[in-house]
Amino acid sequence: STPVSIVAGIGGAARQGILMKGGTHLETSGKIDAVALDKTGTLTLGDPRVERIVSLQKDDGISPDMVLFYAAIAESASEHPIAGRIVKTAEKQGPVPPPTSAEAVAGKGIKAAWQEKNILVGSRRFMEESGINIDQEDVGAADIGSGETMVFVALDDRLVGLIGVADPVRSHAKEAVARMRSSGVKRIVMLTGDNRRTAQAVARQVGITEVHAELLPEEKLAHIRALQEEGFTTAMVGDGINDAPALASADVGIAMGDGGTDIAMETADIALMRNDLTVVAQAIERSRGTLRNIR
Ligand code: ADP
Ligand code: MG
Repeated sequence: STPVSIVAGIGGAARQGILMKGGTHLETSGKIDAVALDKTGTLTLGDPRVERIVSLQKDDGISPDMVLFYAAIAESASEHPIAGRIVKTAEKQGPVPPPTSAEAVAGKGIKAAWQEKNILVGSRRFMEESGINIDQEDVGAADIGSGETMVFVALDDRLVGLIGVADPVRSHAKEAVARMRSSGVKRIVMLTGDNRRTAQAVARQVGITEVHAELLPEEKLAHIRALQEEGFTTAMVGDGINDAPALASADVGIAMGDGGTDIAMETADIALMRNDLTVVAQAIERSRGTLRNIR
C-alpha cells in the first residue's frame, strides 16, 4: 500500500522482511539504546476476540445482544481492530445497520448516532471525558479478565454494557524483548492507549516492566521526547494512527507492515513486512555489526 524504497546495501535486511527508507537510519539503528513499543497490534496480534458481553441495564430490558448490536452500529464506522471484531461478532446475529453519523476519536473510541440514539463505544477514559457515569461496583461485578480490554458501551449518555475483548500476545514478542535487552538496549517501555490493568498483564507476559497506559497519541509522542531529552537514541515500534506522532519524532520509527495502518507505514523509517518483532532486535544487532565494519 505504501511505496517504500529499498536502498542498496540493506538487501540483507530486506530479505529478512525489513524495509528501510534511506541510508541514514541504518546508522542510527546501531545507536538505539531505548525502545518504545505500542501494545495493541504491535506486542499483540491486534486480532482481538470477543470473550464476553455484559449488560449493565438488564432491569431496563437491555440484553447483552442489544449491547453488542448498538456497539456494532457505531464500530462499523471505525477502523480500530477492536471495532472490526465487534462488528463481525454482531453480524453472526443479523445485519448491522450503518450509523447515521459517526466520529472516531483516535486512541479513545467512537461516537455515533442511529435512530435518534447516541452511541459511545470505547475506553473508560473516553466515557469519563464524555460525562458518562461509571458505577465501579457494576464494572467489577462484570468480572472481565485481567488480560482483557474492557470496551465500554453507552447509549444516550448512560453506560449500558461492557464487552471484554482479548488480544493474544505475538508469539515472538517475549524473545524479541529479551534480545533487545541483551543487545544493549537500556530502556524498553510500553506506550499504550489501553487501560493500565490490561497493559500490565501484557507487559508481564513479554517481560516489560516500564508501562505507560491510557495514553493519547500526543502523550506517546511526549514519552518519546522525554527519552530523547534523557539522552537516549530512541526507537518507536507501532502500527496505528495513534502511533504516528511518536513514530515521526523517534530517532527510528518502525511500523508493523502487515495489517498496520497506512499512516504508520508512511511516517515510519522502517517497516516490518512480517511483523516479527525479533527482526527489530536483529536490525539493532545487524546495524551495530555494520557500524563496526565501517569503522
Ligand atoms: P494501543 O495504543 O494499545 O494500540 P489504541 O490507542 O488503539 O491502543 O486504543 C486505546 C484504547 O482505546 C483501546 O484499548 C480501547 O480501549 C479504546 N478504543 C479505541 N478505539 C476504539 C474503538 N473503535 N472501539 C473500542 N475501543 C476503542
Ligand atoms: Mg496499536
